[in-house]
Amino acid sequence: MIAQLLGLPDTPGVMFFVFAGGGMLYFFLIASIAYYLYFKKFRAHFHPTYELDRKEMKSAITWVIIGIVGNGALMLPIHMLIAKDYSKMYYDVSEHGWAWMFGQVIVLLVFTETLIYWTHYAFHRVPWLWKYVHERHHKYVVPTPYSSLSFNPMDSFLQAVPHHIAAFFFPLHAGVYLTSVLFVTLWAVCIHDRVSFFRWPWLNYTDHHTLHHWYSDFNLGQYFTFWDRLVGTYRSPKIDYEDVPDGIIYRPKSVAPTSTAPTALGGRSANPA
Ligand SMILES: [Zn+2]
Ligand SMILES: [Zn+2]
Repeated sequence: MIAQLLGLPDTPGVMFFVFAGGGMLYFFLIASIAYYLYFKKFRAHFHPTYELDRKEMKSAITWVIIGIVGNGALMLPIHMLIAKDYSKMYYDVSEHGWAWMFGQVIVLLVFTETLIYWTHYAFHRVPWLWKYVHERHHKYVVPTPYSSLSFNPMDSFLQAVPHHIAAFFFPLHAGVYLTSVLFVTLWAVCIHDRVSFFRWPWLNYTDHHTLHHWYSDFNLGQYFTFWDRLVGTYRSPKIDYEDVPDGIIYRPKSVAPTSTAPTALGGRSANPA
């Protein structure tokens, strides 16, 4: 698969290197671009109240490295099975036609969205999962691009695994698979940079995830908000929450909050219910 696409041998060592090494290069490239633009060069515009916390930044970057390397190791058996052709991954569009090239994108979105929502929901509801798996990611209450992949490796593995096991459930073109893995990493960085450009309420855009880090138990989706709305874990970023300090959510002048949150919504919750 990815090693094959790059013309490399699909041995465990090479595959680990491609995922851990390639993943690290890709992540630090896009996270650094986002950090440079929003937190340095145009900081006065996007995040005027931001102050670098060196200790937190060091911790965030350390856990990115631990998370990516650990995730690469945990994912290896799945990648080996895919490489040895035990999955339904395919490489030639003509095998399933163009209609399925587009159809599988929708199926993949529904499949990953559903599994990731409920995995994330369990992380926030099951005390030991919270404590031993997910709490690390929530140490960063006000996120930056560098904290987007600051995970316990088991956390990043369990939240990423739907993308990697999809090919065992339905035919998945290698190009679609690779694009989805690259895109979800880019998405992870984007939803942690605290700058939203698209504010479509059914999309789990950046402000939603900023609130997820602030309130902890709300907005658990991946790309969309439909599971949050159905289950009742949705909080709209269009509301002006009194306990969210100014500057945490970047709001251009054209996007004023529509209303003030009723106090019954409650405040921050750092622990699962
Ligand atoms: Zn996050
Ligand atoms: Zn969470």
